Amino acid sequence: MFEIIPCASGCGRSATSGSNVCFVHQADRARETRRIVEHIAGNATVRDLNASGVEFVGEDFSDRRFFGCCFRNAVFSGCRFSEVLLRMCFLDFARFSGCEFLRSDFQFVSFAGAEFADCGFRDSELVHANFLGAGIERTSFNSLNLYNSRFINARLRETGFVNCNVMRTNFAYAGQENVTFRPTNTGDAIFEVEPS
Ligand SMILES: [Zn+2]
Repeated sequence: MFEIIPCASGCGRSATSGSNVCFVHQADRARETRRIVEHIAGNATVRDLNASGVEFVGEDFSDRRFFGCCFRNAVFSGCRFSEVLLRMCFLDFARFSGCEFLRSDFQFVSFAGAEFADCGFRDSELVHANFLGAGIERTSFNSLNLYNSRFINARLRETGFVNCNVMRTNFAYAGQENVTFRPTNTGDAIFEVEPS
């Protein structure tokens, strides 16, 4: 699992792997992003990377395997994730816009408080994923296994779930505006908290 080393500036954020300060306190953020991108490009398997807050534009993360990594507060614009494997990774409060996720395999991944706009997930495993309080708009979930994933308190807008397995997927307290479920086994999903 990634190590949390406090930023040397004392800001309370965690330092990026291989650096003593967080992304915000990098003197040259573009160079820091390149360093992280090159690290990922050079390793088919990436373990224990802390890339909190790093901003990625137009990067291709395809065919990579990530274990125990942290992309908390990271920004992904127009990035591609094709045949990517994620295990025990933290993307809380990350922001995704115009990203494509294809034939990927995500398990035990947290997107709590994350924001997705104009993204597409297709033909992927997204099981035991946590979208607690996530804001998701104009995004498609197409042919996915969402078994036991949680969208509790999420804000879903103009978003479609098409041909997904939503067995034990929890949508309790999720706000829904123009959300479609087609043909998806919604009878097996959880939409309300049962009174105890
Ligand atoms: Zn800092």
